[in-house]
Amino acid sequence: MSIEADLAELKTRLQEIDDLQSTSAVLGWDQAVYMPPGGAAARGRQSALLSRLSHERMTDPAIGQLLDALTPWAAALDPDSDEASLIRVTRRDHDRATRVPSAFVQRVSAHLAASYHAWERARPANDFASVRPFLETTVALSRAYAGYYEGFNPAYTHPFDALIDLAEEGMTVAGVRALFDELRAGLVPLLAQIRTRPEIDDGCLKGDFPEEAQRAFGEAVIRAYGYDFTRGRQDKTAHPFMTKLGLGDVRITTRFKTDDLSEGLFSTLHEAGHAMYEQGIADELDGTPLFSGATSGVHESQSRLWENLVGRSRPFWRHYYGALQSAFPAQLNGVDDETFYRAVNRVSPSLIRTDADEVTYNLHIMLRFDLELALLDGSLAVADLPEAWRERMRSDLGVVPPDDTDGALQDVHWFGGLVGGAFQSYTLGNIMSAQFFAAARRDLPDLDGSTASGSFGDLKGWLTAHVYRHGRKFTAPEIVMRACGEPMSIAPYMAYLRAKYGALYGL
Ligand code: ZN
Repeated sequence: MSIEADLAELKTRLQEIDDLQSTSAVLGWDQAVYMPPGGAAARGRQSALLSRLSHERMTDPAIGQLLDALTPWAAALDPDSDEASLIRVTRRDHDRATRVPSAFVQRVSAHLAASYHAWERARPANDFASVRPFLETTVALSRAYAGYYEGFNPAYTHPFDALIDLAEEGMTVAGVRALFDELRAGLVPLLAQIRTRPEIDDGCLKGDFPEEAQRAFGEAVIRAYGYDFTRGRQDKTAHPFMTKLGLGDVRITTRFKTDDLSEGLFSTLHEAGHAMYEQGIADELDGTPLFSGATSGVHESQSRLWENLVGRSRPFWRHYYGALQSAFPAQLNGVDDETFYRAVNRVSPSLIRTDADEVTYNLHIMLRFDLELALLDGSLAVADLPEAWRERMRSDLGVVPPDDTDGALQDVHWFGGLVGGAFQSYTLGNIMSAQFFAAARRDLPDLDGSTASGSFGDLKGWLTAHVYRHGRKFTAPEIVMRACGEPMSIAPYMAYLRAKYGALYGL
């Protein structure tokens, strides 16, 4: 066959895989938003069928043959071109998918479904003992999974590098460790200094805030950010998320608490950041593996950028506080914008990762990253995890969970997924969010002025040009290098935290 015919054949096959995955996303969205509980068993079977079909199609030897035929042609192209990127990334996805026997994939998914159900019961009951055997099996399966990737990439030097690289393309255990150690060395003294200062009062965020007014305010902000409601929509769910159902359909969900103003607002800004990334990918990449965000870390950098670097900034509240006060005149009566700005940036070590402020959040992630590597290399037994968790909370955050519900059982990740690779992306996202923002500020000197006038087009335009439009063409380290002109580094993030929290706490 000719190159043109091979390329057309490959694209047809990839479009079908993409359609299967999008269809699966529709089922997942419906399950979270509308499905009655009675539909759970049938929906589980339908979703499993779709993921098996798309895995079978991605591992089809015909895909490998088409890639073999197209690789010499792609090698002569500009490596940044859509076509060369398509062949490179599809080759990686195909090779990754074929490394693991499908019997193992099925065994893992059956085990994780059982483990997840056990965790759903164990967490509210504070019953770590009941999930312990499940987690022991998960650790063993995670090691076996990493084993299938031995020699997969010459850059791997640690037995669990594959688990990191599969989740966060281009990163290794050593690379993450180096960044985290440096970040930790900056964060721990910053937190210690903050804790010597008087606590910020965030009482103005508590009260009675009707849901409809919260929803309307959040919607107004994300419309101004640039989330396109003609290619998206927002619904309510127990756990907020973003999902792409196909070209022109990127949805978000949120949840509101009527007694806490920050929950609904910041989860809306966060998910809108994820969604604007997906909406900003070049349409030409549709129907291929390139048509999604680069990695979960880069994705998180975009949600955190719009949530924190913009949405918790002084210029933002200079513009929006009047509108918020008009939405809640009785509740915010007598609260000025400075008091409100301080409240949404209060630093307070807490037990729950998802409630953590910007300064303490990453300490939660480092705890999980270190403990999961210890579980994998056998230096920590699953039975000793709850105590190791408490000890680390005590030493890092100065607070100790009274039970495992708010300790080692709090996150679903190790109970609904494999151990290793799931957590580091949150902190990498924070690091990159500040690095992208600093680079955008160099190109857009009046960024704060634009934010203070509620104008976000230039920032969104910068992010689209440097991050969004590329989809999965480049890895996270490559995108940072291209967008910022320097390797991934914690310096912009620590500078941001020191400046912001130094001023807030008078350090
Ligand atoms: Zn997120």
